[in-house]
Amino acid sequence: MKYISTRGQAPVLSFEEAMLTGLARDGGLYVPETIPTCNGAEIAALGGLPYEEVAFRVMYPFVGESFSEADLRGAIGRAYEGFGHVARAPLAQLGPNHFLLELFHGPTLAFKDFAMQLIGQLFEMALTRRGERVTIVGATSGDTGSAAIEAFRGLDAVDVFILFPHGRVSEVQRRQMTTPSEANVHALALDGHFDDCQARVKDMFNDFGFRDSVGLAGVNSINWARVLAQVVYYFTAATALGAPHRPVSFTVPTGNFGDIFAGYIARSMGLPIEHLVIATNQNDILHRTLSTGGYVTSGVTPSISPSMDIQVSSNFERALFYAYDQEGAAVAQLMDELKGQGGFKVSQGALEVLRETFASGRASEEETSATIARVFAETGQIVCPHTAVGVKVAEEHLAGAPMITLATAHPAKFPDAVEAATGVRPPLPNRMADLYERPERVSRVANDLTAIEDLIRKGRAA
Ligand SMILES: *Cc1c(COP(=O)(O)O)cnc(C)c1O
Repeated sequence: MKYISTRGQAPVLSFEEAMLTGLARDGGLYVPETIPTCNGAEIAALGGLPYEEVAFRVMYPFVGESFSEADLRGAIGRAYEGFGHVARAPLAQLGPNHFLLELFHGPTLAFKDFAMQLIGQLFEMALTRRGERVTIVGATSGDTGSAAIEAFRGLDAVDVFILFPHGRVSEVQRRQMTTPSEANVHALALDGHFDDCQARVKDMFNDFGFRDSVGLAGVNSINWARVLAQVVYYFTAATALGAPHRPVSFTVPTGNFGDIFAGYIARSMGLPIEHLVIATNQNDILHRTLSTGGYVTSGVTPSISPSMDIQVSSNFERALFYAYDQEGAAVAQLMDELKGQGGFKVSQGALEVLRETFASGRASEEETSATIARVFAETGQIVCPHTAVGVKVAEEHLAGAPMITLATAHPAKFPDAVEAATGVRPPLPNRMADLYERPERVSRVANDLTAIEDLIRKGRAA
């Protein structure tokens, strides 16, 4: 399988190269040259298999040539063995035609573990084979950083440095980043906001001297390997509810569009998905785009579902690429307009394709809290604020196929918002109940590029 850029001007790469590169050199995102399909019999055969086996069968056609069958199976096995549920992504029922796909049984209690755990293993194998080491640097508002540190801790070929805004992440999120004791992972508390963290990471990638000297690499949500890992649970959930004989629908709480784009890939592979619904919080650029055709950025308003507080939804570029009939030049033009003018207008033809592919909705802060409270009263289940955004929007699309809402995080990761809505403070799962007692290790750093780069140079294990 070869990978091409959404902007059409970057070298064609293998799976391994696309994974290690992240962003394409023309600024675009890598997508597979063709999307492999599976027929009804192949989908039916997935029903009842262990998660790991489905993961292998779904991903192998995208990966082939880069990793052998045995290597991929080994990576998948190691990636998911630490999950707290043997089904990995179990379904729960919320109402007569409405299900929750619980994606929070991984080590940091959010769906990002599904992708990050796997790419940790794949990076390690690829780099060891090449005799290379890299330094992964990332900015986080919480979930991505903890998932990355957890996934790469103790691996030989990788050092990880995560910048988070000092005093501005939840205590659970901070402790998940500061308590791993392995020497190759580092949490850096920056004096500034999340935007400052992101800006400094960008500066480091643009400082080519530094970039080359430490072998800088990124694992943010545009990495194709992360999207691919997320395709798997659409298959396990759909077949559990009767696919391919019965179609299903999905609602996905969305920020950077990675998770829902994985659903789009699953459907393109042949999985019968009736509705694929984008759910946004009050930062609703995606819902507005689907409604009006105008992709117009505005400032971010902080919400109780912070992992969806975005201004620009990076992976949406991949959806545009397919809506524009895989014309890289058209996508490049839109992205230039975005950069120059802060927005663009989707053509009528592309908008029609997007509307055939996706439905959308939004939840205000009040609606999100009210949904957490109502779900608790009706079912006894406690959902996190991101999941609540999904549940609220899903309820507008319940007619037809069974609806599966992605439960993207464990409620204990956002205890304040959940307690405010329900009066109940959700406890951490038993296996991490001692999180508050573990010693923390963190470096406080000024919002200053030189200081950060020095810290990283000195902190690397090699
Ligand atoms: C990252 C995240 C999201 C948004 O996922 P995208 O792939 O960026 O759309 C939603 N919920 C939680 C809990 C997250 O951590």
